[in-house]
Amino acid sequence: MAKRDYYEILEVPRNATKEEIKKAYRKKALQYHPDRNPGDKEAEEKFKEAAEAYAVLSDDEKRRIYDQYGHAGLSGGAGGGFQDFSSFDIEDIFRHFSDIFSDFGFDFGFGGRSSRRESTTRTKGTNLRIRVKLTLNEINTGVEKKIKVKRLVECDACNGTGAKNSTSFKTCHTCGGSGYVTRVSRTFFGHFQTTNVCSSCGGKGRLIVDRCSKCTGSGVVQIDDIITINIPPGVREGMQLSYTGKGNAAQGGGIPGDLIVVIEEEKHPDFIRDENDNLIYNLVISIPQAILGSAVEVPVLDEGRIRVKIEPGTPSGKLLRVKGKGLPHFNSTSRGDLIIRVIVYIPSEISKEERKIIEKLQESDNFKPDKVKRDFNFWDSIKKIFS
Ligand SMILES: [Zn+2]
Ligand SMILES: [Zn+2]
Repeated sequence: MAKRDYYEILEVPRNATKEEIKKAYRKKALQYHPDRNPGDKEAEEKFKEAAEAYAVLSDDEKRRIYDQYGHAGLSGGAGGGFQDFSSFDIEDIFRHFSDIFSDFGFDFGFGGRSSRRESTTRTKGTNLRIRVKLTLNEINTGVEKKIKVKRLVECDACNGTGAKNSTSFKTCHTCGGSGYVTRVSRTFFGHFQTTNVCSSCGGKGRLIVDRCSKCTGSGVVQIDDIITINIPPGVREGMQLSYTGKGNAAQGGGIPGDLIVVIEEEKHPDFIRDENDNLIYNLVISIPQAILGSAVEVPVLDEGRIRVKIEPGTPSGKLLRVKGKGLPHFNSTSRGDLIIRVIVYIPSEISKEERKIIEKLQESDNFKPDKVKRDFNFWDSIKKIFS
């Protein structure tokens, strides 16, 4: 998108004085201030546009280049490290113009915002968010994972200070080196005194003159990092675990953000997990096994297999419960159960001989469904399945 003319943005004549430009910017900044236009993207763009225009026109050297060559003169590097504000976030703009904003003395607008910024953005790095896929076996025991992440860490060349060396600082002129700014506002109701962390230096009392060349003054660099995390047993799909201080390092030496791990559960070939941490296993048995009874082997997570007795006369759909062989509950010492769902296999094709046997069974009164009415064992099993 073509950039608008900076004088046009601030609505000032080309021969405007510095004071007129400052006044015009103040008016625009107030009008499009994000606190006054919450969620309004257009206002935010206008706010950034005005900040960019002011950054250039308030600087004699940049203004001279702009007057002579226009936008092209500044983008080519001639502006001396000038950055395009459209890629900035609002917090960057506040940081950039913090002394102007405090000059304005807006206790409700910029002042309030700047003190809020001290307690959040300035002092804490951003959170990292990653998805981690786990098998049911890993969820069963808990697991240590090594995770590859792109992460901001403290710059090792400057130890996070952002300065070339220990002499690359000057005392902050806004706070005189104390790190705090006390402001007295005169109102209809009397005098109010507020003390805030200095927004020019972020409370450090000094400013960087020579920037570290590795991190260009930010104090942080991005690296490919491997983080080791411990995931406790019993987590489930969609659960979010927070690892304090394993996120991005903060610019200017604050506390690092957190690592947020979002759990994904891999499907198991044998087991289905229900909402009570029970594991459901579909056990297929034959018609003779169901009628005559049998002993079968059933897999268990991590423990090989266990033997399970099939009682004579077991109907399809019967549920067998093995206590405590499910998954552990999260943050608890108890566990779910293994639930074995019996399915009687019915072949889809049969031989002539088999047909004869089945037809013979069909004649037998004992195999007719009206016998069900008197078969209490069968009803007992059905009740267990469907209640
Ligand atoms: Zn550095
Ligand atoms: Zn300061």
